[in-house]
Amino acid sequence: MTAKTGPVPSGKTAAVPAVLLAHHLKQLKLPTILREHEKVAREAARDGVDHVRYLLRLVELELLDRERRVTERRIGEAKFLTVKSLDTFDFAAIPSLNRMLTLELVRCEYVARRENVIALGNSGTGKTHVALALGLAACQRGFSTLFLTAHALASQLMEARDEKRLLKLQAQLQNVKLLIVDELGYVPLSQVGAELLFEVFSQRYERGSTIVTSNLPFEEWPAVFRSERLTGALLDRLTHHVHILEMNGESYRLKQSAGRRTAARAEPPKATAHQDHAAAPGEHDRDPHAASQPS
Ligand code: ADP
Ligand code: MG
Repeated sequence: MTAKTGPVPSGKTAAVPAVLLAHHLKQLKLPTILREHEKVAREAARDGVDHVRYLLRLVELELLDRERRVTERRIGEAKFLTVKSLDTFDFAAIPSLNRMLTLELVRCEYVARRENVIALGNSGTGKTHVALALGLAACQRGFSTLFLTAHALASQLMEARDEKRLLKLQAQLQNVKLLIVDELGYVPLSQVGAELLFEVFSQRYERGSTIVTSNLPFEEWPAVFRSERLTGALLDRLTHHVHILEMNGESYRLKQSAGRRTAARAEPPKATAHQDHAAAPGEHDRDPHAASQPS
């Protein structure tokens, strides 16, 4: 809708309503309406659309944009290493993974039900990829999400404790709808780190969803948490409402680099820690080298 037609005293006066409108829209934090209203008005005039529909169109645009902005902020706050989705995930490469369950989890109903997900399998099989994809889906569906490695989480908790802000951090971790703890077991935890991590899982029990990825089967978790008793209590809580993603198989990373080598007709590769690993697909990765190079 254009400014009122008819005689106007001067160009300056005619601009006043537009200036005021821009000012008010900024005050009201309606940037999309501010940006679009003139263009949409021209279209409305052209198509003979009445003022209610014109206003509706503008408000819809603002709402859509707002949702997009909020989702983007949520994705930023989730602190993903990279943004990945299942669109780029090749299920055929990992036959042990339950495809139906994974696709169901992407719908995030488990987050609403405060259930957990544990992805277990050797290195390079896409655990982090799937965890990132589930995290992204949660952000897109409106759930606050936080992604970090078990090692980073334990370090942050210990640092917070030393700086006397542990309660605040624990409250933040408790309130997030989906907490993703990647790479549990790659790096052994200190006694204090293990206890603080246990407290986080314990405080989130039936309050929020947690995704854990690990290269270690449950039997080996006591070595990570340095206590049978603590691990028992932890698994009890974590697995009460849980979806397990079995992700043992050939490392996708290795398969890809092997594929590239073949394509390039390169020299036969020299033995490295990674290739040794490739010789035993399906084996659990306890290679300390993997710990220093988190995937
Ligand atoms: P993990 O966490 O199990 O060690 P990652 O998720 O880090 O494995 O996977 C290693 C790399 O391979 C990543 O770049 C990931 O995106 C890719 N990848 C792994 N599995 C698949 C797959 N099935 N389809 C597509 N990409 C994959
Ligand atoms: Mg990983």
